[in-house]
Amino acid sequence: MITRSPIPLQRQDESEESRQNGSQREAPGTGRGWSPTPPAWQAQLAGAIRDPRELCRRLGLNERWLPGAEAGHALFEVRVPEAFLSRMRPGDPDDPLLRQVLPLNAEARPVPGYVADPLEEAAHTPAKGLIHKYAGRVLLIASPTCAVNCRYCFRRHFPYAENSPSTAQWEASLETLRGDATIREAILSGGDPLAASDRRLSWLVERLGEIPHLKRLRIHTRLPVVIPDRVDDALLAWLSATRLQKVVVLHINHEQEIDDAVIAACARLKAAGVTLLNQSVLLRGVNASVAALAALSERLFDAGVLPYYLHVLDPVAGAAHFDVPDDEARELVAGLREELPGFLMPRLVREIPGEGSKTPL
Ligand SMILES: *Cc1c(COP(=O)(O)O)cnc(C)c1O
Ligand code: SF4
Repeated sequence: MITRSPIPLQRQDESEESRQNGSQREAPGTGRGWSPTPPAWQAQLAGAIRDPRELCRRLGLNERWLPGAEAGHALFEVRVPEAFLSRMRPGDPDDPLLRQVLPLNAEARPVPGYVADPLEEAAHTPAKGLIHKYAGRVLLIASPTCAVNCRYCFRRHFPYAENSPSTAQWEASLETLRGDATIREAILSGGDPLAASDRRLSWLVERLGEIPHLKRLRIHTRLPVVIPDRVDDALLAWLSATRLQKVVVLHINHEQEIDDAVIAACARLKAAGVTLLNQSVLLRGVNASVAALAALSERLFDAGVLPYYLHVLDPVAGAAHFDVPDDEARELVAGLREELPGFLMPRLVREIPGEGSKTPL
């Protein structure tokens, strides 16, 4: 699982951008069609719910959920965009979307084997913002920010402040890519790479397209799901312009996440020539049943998205209550195989530090 996680505010990203590009910033109404007002998605990102009390109030939850929500929030900030909240059932503490974002008391309980950096990424980050673990593919941390903070995120303790990419770091990553002809695919990850501005992303993707041995651009993102307005004309402009083959790997765990706005966002991406895949995490209390997983695959295909990976939980501290044991995971997938055509079957995998690929279970 790679595209999941946190940190400060959009404002930080933007202030960094002004610091770096301030003097060259094009005047409103000139240049290549950059909007003088911030795009709608940025306002939605800035307006995401960041207060556990507000989250409980908006969903009409009983007061007894509040202490846990506040305790978990202190460990890893609550963040839920309105568009995602709108798909939750009010008054239902077991709602499968809410369970992904509501901190519980259990997060504060230490559990043996659950650690801060389960994938040992710190050891695989030679240049800041770049992770090269698998042959032919390099992962660039294109934005430290996420639009939603998922409680099970394996990067919930990731030192993003140190990995927030500056343009100079992107230049260094690009230099690494230029110098290694074995790399065929650049994967933008984060945080959520689409939390970066289109101005910065189009710059990066243009540079990537100039590297002759690169064939593919892959983007691991949850933004089109939690804020479908992210897939706007400015995004589609740079995405359509690149010569690289494009793959977007979404992150959806439950069919209820896919509403009409998400379907429309997927259609726009497809029309821009993007291959759409999905990765999920197998989560107790969210999707750990054959029925839920089958419904998810069906709904994904309705949206033009193929299931790719079903990850077992990475043992990150604070997420143990989501765990599904391996035997149960295998049984679920066996049951799923009886329900679905082969092309709607996700691959059940685990990420093991030091291995050269995801490991099938
Ligand atoms: C998951 C992952 C990839 C992509 O792996 P695929 O099997 O190609 O989807 C690449 N780099 C890192 C560091 C990853 O964790
Ligand atoms: S979207 Fe969720 S799972 Fe993905 S990096 Fe962000 S917090 Fe983690």
